[in-house]
Order: sequence, then C-alpha cells, then structure tokens
Amino acid sequence: MSTISDPGPFARELLHKLDLKPPIDVFFICDNFNIIIKNDKLRDFEAVFILHKGAKKIVLNENINYETRKNFTIAHEIGHYILPWHKQTMYICDSIDIQSFQSKKSYDSYFINF
Ligand SMILES: [Zn+2]
Repeated sequence: MSTISDPGPFARELLHKLDLKPPIDVFFICDNFNIIIKNDKLRDFEAVFILHKGAKKIVLNENINYETRKNFTIAHEIGHYILPWHKQTMYICDSIDIQSFQSKKSYDSYFINF
C-alpha cells in the first residue's frame, strides 16, 4: 500500500542533514532541535510530545527501564515534531500508538533499523 504520508524520506533527510551514523543518538537529535527531554510519572502513557510557544518538550514515562525502549519512544516523539502532517501541538502516546507506528514502518523504525 502506498501512501503520501511516508515518513521514510523525512527520516533519511534528517539522517543526512545531521550526518547521523548508527547507532542513532536520539538525544543528539533532540539537542539539535532544542527539544527538552524530561522523565515524569505518566500513568498509562509512554510519552507526551508538547509544542508550546515555540518550546518543545518530550515527557517520558519514568517507568521505562530499557534504554532501547526509551530511545525508540524518543524517536517516535521526534517523528511527531518532524513530520509535516503531524500538526497537533500535543501528542499523548500510549504503548499501542508507539507499537502501531512500528508496524507501519514509520519514522522511528527507520531510525531503529538504520
Ligand atoms: Zn505518538
């Protein structure tokens, strides 16, 4: 199935622009875009992306223990910021949301499988 909202080209452009080599450092990407990462209590959610008056913030569930899971979730949230058709100023993501991105071979999985 082809779709106009293919995140692949955006992921590749970013990799190229920031000269990223595997393993991808999602913290470096966040630094580059001045995205603040914070850990907090988030009951049923994995992460939240917030864009407010030009300030960008990713709030991660403090209960995510695995580094790879954390990286994957951050990559997912970066996707909300980068992809032009993601226009909301806030995304609240649960694990199902993050998993479904994965299965659609989206932005974050491009990073992780790069
Ligand atoms: Zn999400």
